[in-house]
Amino acid sequence: MDAASIPSEDLAALLKWYVDHGLDESIGEEAVDRFALPPPAAAASPAAPPRNTAAPTPIRAPAPPPAVRAPVPLESPQLVEDARDLAGRCATIAELEEAVRAFEGCALKRTAKNTVFADGVPGAPVMIVGEAPGADEDRLGKPFVGVSGQLMDRMFDAIGMSRERDLYITNILFWRPPGNRTPTLAEQAVCVAFTRRHIELAKPKVLVLAGGTAAKAMLETTEGIMRLRGKWTSLKLDDGTEVPTMPTFHPAYLLRTPASKRQSWLDLLAIDKRLKELGAKASS
Ligand code: URA
Repeated sequence: MDAASIPSEDLAALLKWYVDHGLDESIGEEAVDRFALPPPAAAASPAAPPRNTAAPTPIRAPAPPPAVRAPVPLESPQLVEDARDLAGRCATIAELEEAVRAFEGCALKRTAKNTVFADGVPGAPVMIVGEAPGADEDRLGKPFVGVSGQLMDRMFDAIGMSRERDLYITNILFWRPPGNRTPTLAEQAVCVAFTRRHIELAKPKVLVLAGGTAAKAMLETTEGIMRLRGKWTSLKLDDGTEVPTMPTFHPAYLLRTPASKRQSWLDLLAIDKRLKELGAKASS
């Protein structure tokens, strides 16, 4: 059946079904019927060795197998150790970015288009850590550039701050989870090892954790965002420093629940006040 003969409501319903199941991107013009393709065995199997017409060679003991380290499964605690070790050896944000881009220990990298590292001003007084890139961020390679990011920009603009001047923005994950699913704890743990070092190197005066997933992962708590938001806490880093930290609602949640913007406004006012007390923002 060709698409032109399908009623448009049915096509719209099919499209919605795809999006609801996380299929929000097409990767080709034409659908491929993989059941109709020839079995891959012939192509994949090694070519038959040429018939040996030379004189037989003397039998030798087989060579010992090369000492290859077994691949580390992408859920292994070893990967968290590797990430921590790599991150700890980075002395600058540029080195850390290079290490993250070269890192192959997070399965999400395989399905993402881009590594989304950061945006804004490294060393800015406020560092915002969100959850994970969405489709727009994956496409453009920058965090918080979609609708929720635009809301976040407007919120900070209301206290006179912008990503061009005063904000440094990243996520606990550097790669988009397929279909925006919630990242697994293993995926979070590997990326958070880099994010903790990212915060040490960026040295913000104040850290803002946007949403429950980022807040729980960074603060190592099971407490939900409803309880965490609006209360100052202190994030202890591995270099011995501590950063005043404000968990707050994720802007995507505010888009779905506009009535909660009132509480977020209170969080913004608390951030503004703290920055002024720390001498990191001029008093208005
Ligand atoms: N949501 C996030 O948590 N981060 C982004 O970068 C975009 C949307």
